[in-house]
Amino acid sequence: MQLSLALLQKYSKPGPRYTSYPTAPYFSESFGEKEWLEELRATQGSGRDLSLYVHIPFCDTLCWYCGCNMVATRNYNRATEYLGYLFKEIDAVAAQTNPARQAKQLHWGGGTPTYLHPDDIRRLFAHIASRFPISDDAEKSCEIDPRELSREHVMALKESGINRVSLGVQDLDDTVQKAVNRIQPESLIREVYGWMREADFDSVNVDLMVGLPHQTVEGFSVTLDKIIAINPDRLAVFNYAHVPWMKKHQVLIKEEALPDLATRLALQMLIMEKLTAAGYVYIGMDHYAKPDDEIVLAQKNKTLYRNFQGYTTHKDCDLYAFGASSISQTEDVFVQNHKDLKRYQALVAEGRLPIERGLRVAAEDKLRRDAITRIMCDLELDKAAFGRQWNIDFDAYFADALAELQAMAGDGLVEMSAGRISVTSLGRIFLRNIAMPFDAYLKKKAEDRPMFSKTL
Ligand code: SF4
Repeated sequence: MQLSLALLQKYSKPGPRYTSYPTAPYFSESFGEKEWLEELRATQGSGRDLSLYVHIPFCDTLCWYCGCNMVATRNYNRATEYLGYLFKEIDAVAAQTNPARQAKQLHWGGGTPTYLHPDDIRRLFAHIASRFPISDDAEKSCEIDPRELSREHVMALKESGINRVSLGVQDLDDTVQKAVNRIQPESLIREVYGWMREADFDSVNVDLMVGLPHQTVEGFSVTLDKIIAINPDRLAVFNYAHVPWMKKHQVLIKEEALPDLATRLALQMLIMEKLTAAGYVYIGMDHYAKPDDEIVLAQKNKTLYRNFQGYTTHKDCDLYAFGASSISQTEDVFVQNHKDLKRYQALVAEGRLPIERGLRVAAEDKLRRDAITRIMCDLELDKAAFGRQWNIDFDAYFADALAELQAMAGDGLVEMSAGRISVTSLGRIFLRNIAMPFDAYLKKKAEDRPMFSKTL
């Protein structure tokens, strides 16, 4: 079955991206610093490795489509000051951590991590490495904004041991760039990409975005061709989420300039066709990778996992996250730091862990989280094996979800056999929709539900 306007209309509706389950809007302020400290102390003997995340919330300018927690400023003193608090927070968590636990994964996100000057990049990495043992084979990744970047930044990342980088491109078209206030000429992208290849990182990812104002099939086709030609190892083609009621600055984007549904449909088809023809495998949730990439192999081996950084091959890690708004995770608990920078810094200054809210995952949440993870990561679910693992009669327990999935099977999104639910190639575009029937929170009354972006 083919992607059609009718399918897009039917399934384009608000839904979570499932970087966690339960999703972040359900975290509660009744779960805070005290509970997180107890969890940290109780889990040091778990035998699980660590994944470390650092959030750098600063950017030089505001991209009008931005959905991240960030602050646009040209006052670098704010970053210097922030680093001081970040180091203090890292020290406080390290003091609670069993020193034998190794970090298998390190990720710097933002905002813009490369807002930091090269010497501060080195200083931050050295500080983390002095507090947490980082395993030799750790995946160490960083998001890169090509604007304001120097070759020295790239060298500082390389010297610090970063082995994976992700370059934010979005669209090479000048008109689109102007309409979202992110000007980065193609010549700049090429130069920065050249530095990244020269530094010989293990993997280079390029982020694109679809659904931006003034995007056309012809224009985006040119962008895709040029990006395919530079041959990144991975590509993410995110759908722009226009949620001005949540992200006020998005009102700067003129709604009448956004591509209509027919154009969005054509763009989706174009992306699939061009990237698969170029040899990329579609993982799901906007992510593409070369067939021999570990993310593709992990999907085949059913070891792929999803957390706040998106898809990851490090399933059995506790995630310790540092910086304003960042989210930490153990097997049973999620906690989020304060998003407000002043509040975050004030709490750290007092020697506190700057937790704003969190959640202890209930037994039923874990079961449903597993079902959602199988769909999002494995693209299939073995009902009998799942039932045995969780000691349930799958068909009875998930009768409601199965009825919804049966309707999706009629639209060609999934195949339902007696023992298995399998996502089809077409269904990969609608993964969020296919996971949503397993989400008990979406069945709450509409007024108790948070607002999510549209699935497509
Ligand atoms: S660089 Fe990234 S985080 Fe900063 S404003 Fe642009 S989209 Fe947002």
